Amino acid sequence: MKSLKESAQNFAINRALNYVESNPEENLPKLLEMVDNVFPKEWYGEQREAIKKEIERKGNWYQLILKLYELDPGVRKAFFQNFLFNASLKGSAIIEESREREKCNIPWAILLDPTSACNLHCTGCWAAEYGNRLNLSLETIDSIIKQGKELGVHMYIYTGGEPLVRKADLIKICEMHPDCEFLSFTNGTLIDKDFCKEMLRVKNFVPAISLEGFEEANDSRRGEGVYQKVKNAMALLKENKLPFGISTCYTSRNYNDITSEEFFDYMIESGALFAWFFHYMPVGNSAVTELLPTPEQRETVYHRIRDFRNSKPIFTMDFQNDAEFVGGCIAGGRNYLHINAKGDVEPCVFIHYSNANINDCSLLEALKSPIFMAYHDNQPFNDNMLRPCPMLENPEALREMVKATGAVNTDYESPESVDHLCDKTTPYAENWKGKADELWSCGDCSKCKGCGKN
Ligand code: SF4
Repeated sequence: MKSLKESAQNFAINRALNYVESNPEENLPKLLEMVDNVFPKEWYGEQREAIKKEIERKGNWYQLILKLYELDPGVRKAFFQNFLFNASLKGSAIIEESREREKCNIPWAILLDPTSACNLHCTGCWAAEYGNRLNLSLETIDSIIKQGKELGVHMYIYTGGEPLVRKADLIKICEMHPDCEFLSFTNGTLIDKDFCKEMLRVKNFVPAISLEGFEEANDSRRGEGVYQKVKNAMALLKENKLPFGISTCYTSRNYNDITSEEFFDYMIESGALFAWFFHYMPVGNSAVTELLPTPEQRETVYHRIRDFRNSKPIFTMDFQNDAEFVGGCIAGGRNYLHINAKGDVEPCVFIHYSNANINDCSLLEALKSPIFMAYHDNQPFNDNMLRPCPMLENPEALREMVKATGAVNTDYESPESVDHLCDKTTPYAENWKGKADELWSCGDCSKCKGCGKN
């Protein structure tokens, strides 16, 4: 049962959201003024100031906020309630208490693979490495979410495999947990009119569609015709006023295209509200190192995403270059963890080593398993936030943790030793160090106009 305080907070937030709803352009600035009069400066003061400035400037972030008001009203309301209140405001407070009580990492989000099956066979996809016959049962997913909620977690993210292979079950889970927000990585090819109707009905499901660039680049990795299917899916979602984002992986081959202005504009015109950029990770025995970006290529990505963040109405995260905003590596339950389709609880979607399986232990026991505690005790892995990863930029850290904890590789088709994996990333880490140190000591170049390099 909801506490009195929680009900009062809920009531106040709903009143505020309804007020903005009636005329966002006029009422949003007024609401912020009211918040200033009621709440102390320390309560998200910096963020409130930043939002106010952005509204005055009527800049790209303001345009993005207004785009939220073009969405289906029920979906928007569920998003605000689940993401802002349940997961972020209320959830974060409970998570903090859980961390102190349990003396281990408690995540903000849980990533899980409902299935390892996929309807496509993309080159270099780690999901293909797990084999394709594994599924988390509906009961297991429900149990993970129930346990997560006890600890304060209200954000669940599906990876795979292709999660939408099990779209009927995913919709059921949305209905079973209407107080949680569900985001799903997807290749987008299974999004159709009926699924859009279901998303409108349950209101708490947001797809993040994979795109590797324009048609030729995308289809050379994902298969012929996939680009057009994704285009159709985005058009359907936009037509139905449903929120969605793009997920993309930068490599030495496509980094230029997917960080170009043309690609940003394409994502925005298609209706995407967010874009998540992932650095290519050479995970798996057959993963090649040629796709790893050079230091110069990674630097280009770093600058471009930061520049467009100041000018384009789309929320971007660059998962390898934005660690400074989250204090380094977020894995090992610090902000998130990953449960694969066999139930192995892994620190990260890219780190396939584990000591715990969710079918044999509780979520909390998994969070206290040796490799999770090793993450907890060693984070951050580097003071330079442009070198956050224990695998990519600090491979000695992952070698040590896996060996010390006896965590086993969870790729059952072709198990990869930690030495094999880290031998691939060691030259990359050494190469990147100089550029990373230069960029880090230089600070945020997107704000500085002083050195003449940009
Ligand atoms: S382990 Fe590496 S890839 Fe995974 S969250 Fe940490 S920094 Fe990112």
